[in-house]
Amino acid sequence: MIVGIDLGTTNCAIAAWKDGTPTLIPNAMGDVLTPSAVSLCENGELLTGVAARDRQVTHPRHTATSFKRYMGTRQKTKLGPQQEFTAEDLSALVLRGLKADAEAFLGVEVEGAVITVPAYFNDRQRKATRRAGELAGFKVSRLLNEPTAAALAFGIHDRSDREAFLVFDLGGGTFDVSIVEMFEGIVEVRASAGDNRLGGEDFNDCLIDLVSRQDDRWKQLRSSSGNEMGEKLRAAAERTRRALSDTAIASFTVTEGEEAFTCEISERAFEEHAGPLLARLREPVLRSLRDSNIQVSKLSEIVLVGGATRMPVVRRAITRMFGRFPNQSVHPDHAVALGASVQAGLLMGDKALEEIRLSDVCPFTLGVDNAQIDERGRLYEGIFSPIIERNTPIPASRVNYYQTIVDNQRELMFGIYQGESRDVTSNVRLGEIRIPVPPKPAGEVVVECRFSYDSNGLLEIDVSNPETGVTRNLVLTEHDGDGVPPDLAERRKALAALKIHPREEALNIAVSARAARCYESFVGATREAIGRNITLWESALNSQNPRTIAEQRLAFTEWLDSLEGERFL
Ligand code: ADP
Ligand code: MG
Repeated sequence: MIVGIDLGTTNCAIAAWKDGTPTLIPNAMGDVLTPSAVSLCENGELLTGVAARDRQVTHPRHTATSFKRYMGTRQKTKLGPQQEFTAEDLSALVLRGLKADAEAFLGVEVEGAVITVPAYFNDRQRKATRRAGELAGFKVSRLLNEPTAAALAFGIHDRSDREAFLVFDLGGGTFDVSIVEMFEGIVEVRASAGDNRLGGEDFNDCLIDLVSRQDDRWKQLRSSSGNEMGEKLRAAAERTRRALSDTAIASFTVTEGEEAFTCEISERAFEEHAGPLLARLREPVLRSLRDSNIQVSKLSEIVLVGGATRMPVVRRAITRMFGRFPNQSVHPDHAVALGASVQAGLLMGDKALEEIRLSDVCPFTLGVDNAQIDERGRLYEGIFSPIIERNTPIPASRVNYYQTIVDNQRELMFGIYQGESRDVTSNVRLGEIRIPVPPKPAGEVVVECRFSYDSNGLLEIDVSNPETGVTRNLVLTEHDGDGVPPDLAERRKALAALKIHPREEALNIAVSARAARCYESFVGATREAIGRNITLWESALNSQNPRTIAEQRLAFTEWLDSLEGERFL
């Protein structure tokens, strides 16, 4: 069985191709969204998903979220005083939880996964994502661009040729716009642009900023905010912002000790204050249209993806921007995972999907460093020379020619880079290749450099001197040309050895964590009522009777739901 996974910055969703349709898989809590969060408990065990997310307020130093932002870097996140994890490790832990959820729901072993990545993820970020999947015990069948997945969920493969969708994906921390097109029966990303520092979280900051302008008390609260108060403000903003998706006015409440601070926020005030953020949605849209050379009037659909597009202020901004209404026929939280499961069905050879063919583009520019001499003979080194440009449909093969720049030069050396900057040092270095050349006056030796890139991330570089017939070849695979990194097997073992709460027990911890968070965010009679319910819950836990625990858990959860409104992920 192969499943489709949307590995998001904020939330993950997982779906399977089941009985001929894409089907969402609920986690142990019964939710189809699982927060991308990992938390370390006092007893040294790890929690993932909603239980971990709910500990963010009460245990910020033991909880990690938003780690996808650091995917592909060496940056480590501390959980507690001793343990450190890379984004890759943390993602692997979340993926492991999803794998268990899928196996429990489907009742079969899940070996493979199609994991989605933002279209603008670079080579390193993609490799790290693939490794995270492998560390979690998956065979990663394919990395799929999120917009391609979304377009599939919205049924682009049932449309006629040349129809283009604009996929507008505003998540928790990232914004991604892509133009996806059907061309001769192939689904293709024509262009993608994004801002990986823009999402729902920024709207939370904006709301906190708005609140802190109310009066000095709020200002103080914000500036005095240590780690814990910062998290409380963030959680309060999240709650208020979600409420504003349904009503015109909502209250913003935080507690400090026994004191509660409350103020009312109107959607209008929020919209006004969010003006600069909403304005930032424009540039990536324009860039994707420019890159794909498609006019707004030629777009078949504008599809909304990502939880933050549920905000009415965002929807209005989009409608204003395009002069028409976006397509909302698929839930924006589910589209990417559903589309990934279509790809999974395709890979499993499902008959119903025979007609679909997928292709992708190279999401970034690949090239070499180059030296140039100006008319005064000054040498400029380290200038990026693109060979395969971003958004080129893959598999692709492109050639460029390079000359010697000094007399009697004996060798040409090419640094291989990926990125968009003219200065190679700002791009990602992937490797290097050298070729010997016969000594001749500068500029008289010309070498051909060919790049071939395919959808598995295989980059092949061939350099040749047509005159001497000398050739050199280099293949950079998903693992930088050295196969599976030697430490992968070991790291998988190390991660497997980490203790994770059993699913059933994790449910209980999730309820306790949620109750503790609620206790902190209310005061007065409500807080007292929460306290009484916590006592009831703890005595149920102490009974160690699974049935009593399950019944009380259900009752307590329903009570908390009615207290908080929509389940607060
Ligand atoms: P990611 O792709 O980054 O994992 P998601 O697509 O899950 O993110 O979106 C998460 C964001 O969606 C969060 O910032 C959350 O606040 C926002 N969100 C979810 N539901 C709502 C809602 N009803 N109203 C406003 N924002 C919402
Ligand atoms: Mg997303």
